[in-house]
Amino acid sequence: MKVFCIQFVLLVFSQSLLRAPDLTSAATLQPPPLIQTLSDGGDIGPQFNLEQSSETPQVIVVEDAKFWHNVGMRQLKKTIDNAKKAKEYSYANKAKNIIVFVGDGMGIATISAGRIYKGQYLKHGNGEEETLIFDDFPNTGMAKTYNVDKQVPDSAGTATAMFTGVKTDYGAIGVDSTRSELNAEQGRVESIMDWAQRAGKRTGIVTTTRITHATPASTYAHIYDRDWECDTEVPAQSVGIHVDIARQLVENAPGNKFNVILGGGRKPMGALNPQEVQTVKFEGPTETICARNDQRNLPKEWLQKHANDSVPAALVHSREELLKVDVKQVDHLMGLFRNNHITYSIARQAGEPSLQDMTEAAIGVLERGQTSSGYVLLVEGGRIDQGHHMNYARAALHEVYEFDLAIQAALNNTNPEETLILVTADHSHAVTFNGYPLRGNDILGSANLHKAKDPMVYETITYANGPGYFEHLANETRPANSSNVWKPLNLFTQEERTSPTYRNLAAFALKDETHGGEDVAVFAHGPGSNLVRGVFEQNYLAYVVSYAGCIGPAKDFDGSCSRGYAASPGDKITGSVSLLVAAIVSLLVAAPAT
Ligand SMILES: [Zn+2]
Repeated sequence: MKVFCIQFVLLVFSQSLLRAPDLTSAATLQPPPLIQTLSDGGDIGPQFNLEQSSETPQVIVVEDAKFWHNVGMRQLKKTIDNAKKAKEYSYANKAKNIIVFVGDGMGIATISAGRIYKGQYLKHGNGEEETLIFDDFPNTGMAKTYNVDKQVPDSAGTATAMFTGVKTDYGAIGVDSTRSELNAEQGRVESIMDWAQRAGKRTGIVTTTRITHATPASTYAHIYDRDWECDTEVPAQSVGIHVDIARQLVENAPGNKFNVILGGGRKPMGALNPQEVQTVKFEGPTETICARNDQRNLPKEWLQKHANDSVPAALVHSREELLKVDVKQVDHLMGLFRNNHITYSIARQAGEPSLQDMTEAAIGVLERGQTSSGYVLLVEGGRIDQGHHMNYARAALHEVYEFDLAIQAALNNTNPEETLILVTADHSHAVTFNGYPLRGNDILGSANLHKAKDPMVYETITYANGPGYFEHLANETRPANSSNVWKPLNLFTQEERTSPTYRNLAAFALKDETHGGEDVAVFAHGPGSNLVRGVFEQNYLAYVVSYAGCIGPAKDFDGSCSRGYAASPGDKITGSVSLLVAAIVSLLVAAPAT
């Protein structure tokens, strides 16, 4: 049930109405209902019930697509009104191309730790003073990530919010919170890729996870449950109603029209490579994959569907093949590089491309010069999240480093005057960056020193929960003067602690570390980037893409789209001095970051 008490709804409304102080002051606001019960759920987390007070009058409010559309449009209006008040008009600059970078699970602690990891990995000095590429982006904001039914969200609900403008339930993909297991049409929402294709733009998705995983799937699929990646995962009552995610990618728009599809997931696509080699064994629920039972080879079907392309479509399975693709000619490129996810970059396997390789290839296929209508591209650094889930802090931070390289590649290969680049996370994680380590201390090291009286040290990167608990639990090796709980860190060998499968300590035992519920940062660069400011609901990002890109529901918000791409040479002269000045300013701001 997506039923919320009236107080909570008032709270949401009052937060989105900036200039309505009388509303907030008049409200008899109370905190949202408490979580009453916790019980085991599926592999994406426990289900819970909300306590409903019998004394409070209840109004049933369904937070459906219409509800979230209104929230998104109000936020857009608020942001633009504030910009006008400050006489800043560059918000109206239009983006021909839009690239959305999602660091899955890249919360603020991960960004700060990842920045230091980058500096130390590159031996740039102490590390703390390092900058990530997106640190230099001119605009930032904070997104509230909760799902319609959960305080702490998952990637399906959050990606649906970002890519469709509609917040939805935990686990739901491309459908709003009115979704139904028995009706695949119920609550369907369009994505930024639908909007882009309707406007004649090219589209593409790039990820280090399976191409059918929650984040990329939310750009093209509509399905009750994110786990239904292949036919054998769709439960009996939904068979014949819901089509699995992999099939939706090649059968339905917008997926079947994508110019670029790069990632892992050969197995759910029915194209298993039985010879695949994996030299490092990583663990966790996401390491298991569903296998098709319908004998379909979807990449092969995709190739056949594109058989009439003037330039033959390219299907590749290795980095070597990817780099050989003539990206300036090929209009449709599919690269599936792994049966499951692409391996963590810290343990990259032979033949696997980096996120940077894939991003460069994608932009090559999408960028078609001044005569084209531009493009929309999703690039997901998908394994930051999965590293954290297993408490593999080193593997997770190395993914941040590689994610940063991919963003650098995008800046190097795009025109900053016409390309809006958003960098964000879908949600955070239960990871902390803590203690009082000295300046320049190894970010993956200990936060304090071993002392004779107390040999207990703890790590700067520590998890609130997860499987790291078990490895650090004290056993018979425990010295008398240590804590009764944890094995001293110096009893781990250097080899153990630098292994990609080393788990940092977790304080509460769980097989799978959880997400975090705090806001995530959004970094923005290029035309429309100053629409990203303040704190907003996560679904607002789809409205930023819509307004700045002149696609989808906000393209007619004001007359700015008919004025054309303000900052692009050769495009219509707007006649507005302020727009011209803003374009020059954004150009100057952009320069140091590239
Ligand atoms: Zn996750």
